Amino acid sequence: ARTSVVTGSASGIGKATRELLELRGERVIGVDVHDAEVVADLSDAAGRTALVEGVRRLSGGRIDAVYAVAGLAAPTPATVAVNFFGTLATLEGLRSLLSGSRAPRAVLVSSMAALLPSDEDLVALLGICDEPAALARAEILAKEPETTGALIYASTKLALSRWVRRQAATPQWAGAGIPLNAVAPGIIATPMTAELIATEQGREALLKMVPMPLNGIAESAVVAKLLAWLGGEENTHVCGQIVYVDGGSDVVLRGDSV
Ligand code: NAD
Repeated sequence: ARTSVVTGSASGIGKATRELLELRGERVIGVDVHDAEVVADLSDAAGRTALVEGVRRLSGGRIDAVYAVAGLAAPTPATVAVNFFGTLATLEGLRSLLSGSRAPRAVLVSSMAALLPSDEDLVALLGICDEPAALARAEILAKEPETTGALIYASTKLALSRWVRRQAATPQWAGAGIPLNAVAPGIIATPMTAELIATEQGREALLKMVPMPLNGIAESAVVAKLLAWLGGEENTHVCGQIVYVDGGSDVVLRGDSV
């Protein structure tokens, strides 16, 4: 049976992914700040080390897939630390444990929010992986939560999507036989969005920003199934793709650009 690591496994999309993989007979090592096999806070260096050490210990040194799902949507610097640097630490930190697998796979969760307005300076700092400078920039953006603060989340997701494009074909990933891909969900009903979509008014406002003509707001399991395919044995040649699972928001916003 495959052994998969799922970060953010205690809630929402990560929880649904863990449940689906377990239903398929896989062993899952969950990582989260609570209710997980490996309890680790991915926002700082100590937590990122604890993640790698915990997974190494529990897996015996060999894993088959990494699903980097953990994330925050708050207009705060912590969102930069977890979404971008926590995700990179997960994938880069666990990559060597994938080398013993017959079918190693890596997937991260970006967002259709990568298509929404972002902060150019923050995206540039993430592009060069300068965490102290990126956190300092986010600190400034966070001072106006409603306006500039809202750019933080989109910036982290745009930077993640670009990171996948830059990394996927390198010797470390494709060259090592590891497909690296991302999913980019639209609005998914999870604790992250619960408050926003609780009222008709809230749903309408959000769907105006994130139009989902195909079937509207989705359940976590919809994203989990795509993640499980990208991270499963069947995926031998999908490489460096950002797969939108968004009810059409990407098509509406970007039209025929491919
Ligand atoms: P969620 O809040 O239900 O789950 C996120 C999980 O990540 C939680 O269990 C949380 O404890 C964990 N987490 C947060 N900070 C952490 C930290 N410092 N260290 C370790 N774990 C931490 O949210 P969700 O909607 O399931 O989101 C999962 C992923 O999907 C996120 O990356 C999010 O950005 C992305 N996403 C969500 C939506 C949506 O509409 N819900 C849309 C697009 C992308």
